[in-house]
Amino acid sequence: MKKKSIFLILILPLLLIYNTKPKNVILLIGDGMGIGHISAAMYSSNKHLNITKFQHIGFTTTHSLDNLITDSAAAGTAIATGQKTYNNGISVNMQKEPIKTIMEYAKEKGYAFGVVVTSSIVHATPAVFLAHAPHREDYYDLAMDVVEIEPDVAFGGGIEYFKNRPDGIDLIKKLEEKNYRIFYDLSEIKRFRVKDPNQKFIALLAKDGLPPAIKTELNKNLEYYDYLSKRSDYSKSRPKDALEVMTRKALEVFEAKNKPFILMVEGSQIDWASHDNNFSYLLEEMLDFDRAVGVALEFAQKHKETLVIATSDHETGGFTITSGKPDPKKPNQWEFQTKFASTRHTGVLVPVFAHGPGAEVFQGFYDNTDIFKKIKVLWID
Ligand code: MG
Ligand code: MG
Ligand code: ZN
Repeated sequence: MKKKSIFLILILPLLLIYNTKPKNVILLIGDGMGIGHISAAMYSSNKHLNITKFQHIGFTTTHSLDNLITDSAAAGTAIATGQKTYNNGISVNMQKEPIKTIMEYAKEKGYAFGVVVTSSIVHATPAVFLAHAPHREDYYDLAMDVVEIEPDVAFGGGIEYFKNRPDGIDLIKKLEEKNYRIFYDLSEIKRFRVKDPNQKFIALLAKDGLPPAIKTELNKNLEYYDYLSKRSDYSKSRPKDALEVMTRKALEVFEAKNKPFILMVEGSQIDWASHDNNFSYLLEEMLDFDRAVGVALEFAQKHKETLVIATSDHETGGFTITSGKPDPKKPNQWEFQTKFASTRHTGVLVPVFAHGPGAEVFQGFYDNTDIFKKIKVLWID
């Protein structure tokens, strides 16, 4: 056999393995986003959504350990740790002991990691990646864990869990001691340029969650009214590009570090809009999330070693399209009617979209815990 062919036989399989191993992972979670949500967002925009560009698509089950209807804590725990738990558990098992998260694996390997959300950074979905607690509403304890694990980036809201805490501990001071730069305003995030690749960043842009994507009024007669009105300031709306700007900046931070990273980006309020059975709020949150998906795909275009996964933790609202006609005034647009079957989460499957090295393994039908397992095999092991 010629030398050249021996070389190819030996090297080609290695090259193939190398090519399916991503260097970076961007995981985008549309909280409460079901097929109905994606369909409505798609038929509302004459241009295709970024989320429809993915080629590798799968479906996952979402149930928690003891309930077919999961909450965000249990579903997030499954995605972040590969293990199912009870509703309300933040990356703990049934005995309330911590389970190692994908971000803890990343930290152990010296990789960079972080989250970008439109809720507070200690709300269930980001919390399952950065913290552990027996109950999702242990916000003050979760904030302690966030400071402890030291994410490279954590952008969202939640000042009240870090400053003027009931236990008197000043977590802002602790963050400053750890050389964090803390942002309180989106425009500061927009303006700053990464100079020191070792610096870490936290954004606390609101007391709890960021304002909604559009100014709206919550339905006082629905059961989530009290819960939702504490999460966000509904007299305001956040800038249209907030999630996009935060995602872009987080990726700039990681780019400067020049080492493997995992970034979790959450469209946190798709769920809140759905609990409120509020279609216009839902639609704006979906389009907002889709812009962040666009930023991630654009980054992966430039950095081919990046795996992008977009999924949901569960469906909220039993949201669907019931009828529709072509819009007589706008070509390629539809006028349609929608309906919510519930004000709560539902038990239907959710989609998983993947792009980049290893994306093929996200095709098919599997459990939400497999998302963690697949990422771990591709990226950690
Ligand atoms: Mg959720
Ligand atoms: Mg969430
Ligand atoms: Zn919810």
